[in-house]
Amino acid sequence: LTVLLLGAGGREHALAWKLSQSSRVQAIYVCPGNGGTSTVPKTTNISVNASDFPALVKFALENKVDLLIPGPEQPLVDGVEAFFRKAGILVFGPTQAAAQLEGSKAFSKNFMARHSIPTAAFKVFTAPEFEQALSYVKSCGHDVVLKASGLAGGKGVLIPQSIEEAIQGLREIMVDNAFGDAGSEVVVEELLTGPEISVLALSDGYTIIPLPAAQDHKRIGEGDTGLNTGGMGAYAPAPVATPEIMEQIMNESLRPTINAMRRDGTPFVGLLFTGFMLTPQGPKVLEYNVRFGDPETQALLMLLSPEVDLATVLQACTERCLDSVDISFRPGSAVSVVLAASGYPGTYPKGDSITIGTLPEDGIVFHAGTTTTTDSRLLTAGGRVLAVTAYGPTLEDALQKVYAGVDAVSFEGKTYRRDIAHRALAAAKS
Ligand code: ATP
Repeated sequence: LTVLLLGAGGREHALAWKLSQSSRVQAIYVCPGNGGTSTVPKTTNISVNASDFPALVKFALENKVDLLIPGPEQPLVDGVEAFFRKAGILVFGPTQAAAQLEGSKAFSKNFMARHSIPTAAFKVFTAPEFEQALSYVKSCGHDVVLKASGLAGGKGVLIPQSIEEAIQGLREIMVDNAFGDAGSEVVVEELLTGPEISVLALSDGYTIIPLPAAQDHKRIGEGDTGLNTGGMGAYAPAPVATPEIMEQIMNESLRPTINAMRRDGTPFVGLLFTGFMLTPQGPKVLEYNVRFGDPETQALLMLLSPEVDLATVLQACTERCLDSVDISFRPGSAVSVVLAASGYPGTYPKGDSITIGTLPEDGIVFHAGTTTTTDSRLLTAGGRVLAVTAYGPTLEDALQKVYAGVDAVSFEGKTYRRDIAHRALAAAKS
């Protein structure tokens, strides 16, 4: 198999690393990739414009690509799947219509309501309906969350602390266009409470196989404080997701989602990433993403049993035979800790030298914002620079290894959280 991966993050480095272990994979191209993907065996970074789908297809045909794996959501929401399907190339990822699960929160909320999938109560308003949205927010007997419907890079969700802030937030999204087109529709929904988990699941449109539940850490600061980021760390499995909860999630949310998407004429093929809040009334869906999460993927791929051939699994999703493959995970835990540049998620410097010393056994560095110079020096090139990831037979062991790995990496202004997996540790103590 020859694989083309789209993206430049730690998620793509982790995917390339795991795919390269498959004896069935001859070559991997990553567009554009990063300083880490270029060091993976069989892997080459390419510089085709990733939003120019005809150019990507041309490259893929010339280089005999068999399987496309889009890393981020944007190309899926923009319809990259159809370009490759029409060229006879398999795509691990949904059609543009099915990608609406992530591309439009208005779509996903209406879909959940139509199919009785548990989620927060909500109403959708379009920009001209500002006055109606305002009176709805004022009439709500509960706290609300405001969401720009379209893709806003994880920044389109406002959780107001007062009715004044809610009104101000509505105005920002609907009148001031703070999120551009993403805010042309707004979802006003009920504020839920409870622990959050992420469930990444593989699907061929019929069968769905969940991976162990993960928890990420969105805020920059320890104790979940400060600004939101792309994600500062993740671990799996999350102990709050007991087998009973996973069963409930499968029965009430995940299987119904896959079945309903198929019955609606938009079967979902690829990776369905569902964010849940475990509320006192049971697990409720916060959001769908239609691709692997970053940094959850780094931890989950470390947890995957070494004998699992990821290329075969992803290909099976595209060929509707996911029920014929075996997927298993190592017992124990995996943790991924993101090292960011100082200042992130605000402005940060680029071009600082990175050195990576000896990593512990079962520890690995997945690059994100890095680049290699022509004389092979590794430099910072983004906000989230890299993610140190480790596996251990226990969570404590995985944590000890991952932070030993963090200590082995140095660059100017290295910023990270020391408390990744704090919720699991607190739960184990109580
Ligand atoms: P992401 O960065 O994961 O793509 P997003 O912008 O797509 O995020 P959501 O996942 O819908 O948005 O919301 C982001 C975060 O806001 C959630 O992880 C959760 O912490 C919080 N949140 C969203 N909806 C609710 C809700 N109804 N009640 C309480 N908190 C919520």
